Amino acid sequence: MRFLPVYLDLKAGPVLLIGAGDLARAKLRVLAAAGARIRYYATDGHHDLSGFSPSDVARIDIATGDPLAADLSGVIAILCAGAGDIGVAMSARAKSVGLPVNVMDDLAHSTFIFPAIVDRGDVVVAVGTGGTSPVVARRVRERIEAALPARIGDLANFIGGFRKAMHARIPEFRLRRRFWERVIDGPIGALVLEGRRQDAEAALKQIADPSRYAGGDRVHGSVALVGAGPGDPDLLTVKALRALQDADIVFYDELVSPEILDRIRRDAARVPVGRRVGKPGIGQDAINRLLIDAATSGQRVVRLKGGDGFVFGRGGEEVQALRAAGIAYSVVPGITAGIGGAAQFEVPLTFRREALRITFLTAHKAADAEAVDWSTLTDTKMTVVVYMGMTAAPSVRDGLLAAGRAPSTPVGVFARVTLPEAQAAVGTLDQLPELVASIDGGPAILIIGDVVAHSAPWLRQNLNQVITEQVITDLLEAAE
Ligand code: SAH
Repeated sequence: MRFLPVYLDLKAGPVLLIGAGDLARAKLRVLAAAGARIRYYATDGHHDLSGFSPSDVARIDIATGDPLAADLSGVIAILCAGAGDIGVAMSARAKSVGLPVNVMDDLAHSTFIFPAIVDRGDVVVAVGTGGTSPVVARRVRERIEAALPARIGDLANFIGGFRKAMHARIPEFRLRRRFWERVIDGPIGALVLEGRRQDAEAALKQIADPSRYAGGDRVHGSVALVGAGPGDPDLLTVKALRALQDADIVFYDELVSPEILDRIRRDAARVPVGRRVGKPGIGQDAINRLLIDAATSGQRVVRLKGGDGFVFGRGGEEVQALRAAGIAYSVVPGITAGIGGAAQFEVPLTFRREALRITFLTAHKAADAEAVDWSTLTDTKMTVVVYMGMTAAPSVRDGLLAAGRAPSTPVGVFARVTLPEAQAAVGTLDQLPELVASIDGGPAILIIGDVVAHSAPWLRQNLNQVITEQVITDLLEAAE
């Protein structure tokens, strides 16, 4: 982050605006609308303020003379828009006295930049792109505009009026936060957003025991078992995102991507509990204990897992432990790696009459003949999705071939799916170990079945693979 968003107090003093033409007038309008006092040097001599309201005009002070010699005492910021070379010289002067300066479209000479602004009274959202793309900033602003209730500023103002009083009545910080969350999300917030502020005020004053209203009578916290999906943060469900935003503490696995950890509420504690490369994890019993202890102490706990918690994710064990301990819990599903990979590489897991069943299989112990009964996987109308199957790839191939699956059965290896560094290799069952070896490491899923022949055509051009171009072409032709 080069530019930190902060908010400037416009009551502290005037803003110096130097410029000409439409660019300067646009800035004049933004500043006037925000309620700034403006000292305006029009370098093109155009001082016409028609179109501005009398109250705006009263705050605009037309300055004359050389802007480079302007008196800067009391000035809070300097803006140059369409001022030509004067902008560069002004920037040097501003920097020499430590004043924030913006030279429009000139990052090198600016010490602050203008965000796109959503203005809802007390709620003001600033959207910046570090000066790279105002168009993107404006698009983001439009989305925020659409998502925010019109009276969200009133709600902030309403709460502001009661904060001090409530601080005294609910001394405990966490409980206080919950109190306001319940006010905002509940009927009182709804009244404010409907414009019925007096009714909202009456309802708030009627709350006899604010701690109780905040749920302070409940001793236990809760645990949300949340599936984080395969990596792309945009694949989090709305519920998952809400749980991450509400959490006091998050226990996460090694497979959860940093981009997803970024979505956790800033103040929440984050505890890694997964296995690391070369290091064992703390063990399932210890994890269960941590979840139960945190919830018992009244915290809102999120247990965050890659993919879906109930697909090779030990979610079942954790739920059992929580039930036994009498802890309130909820389960939020995630997109499992097999589904995410199939979507990214366009492998239809079922397909007309070709593929009627899907098996999700762990090959963690494929070498162990007891673990997988390959004879149950010989149906050619079944798509087999293998998790944890990289090391065991030779056993997977041998087991399926021995059970009677054809060596020419299409297979795909899909690594780090939905992440920017995703990779894939497609080919046939007899080549499975070589395909796995061609990938730069896991995690990866294997998809085995005729449907792999229908995967995305661009796979051949864009992704790392062995022999596959010809193989896939042949397969597609054969499938026709
Ligand atoms: N609960 C997870 C699975 C955990 S088991 C889920 O539903 O996806 C770990 C295995 O998941 C890995 O060995 C790998 O086979 C698969 N996996 C997890 N994330 C993956 C990803 N981003 N790309 C490919 N495979 C992944």
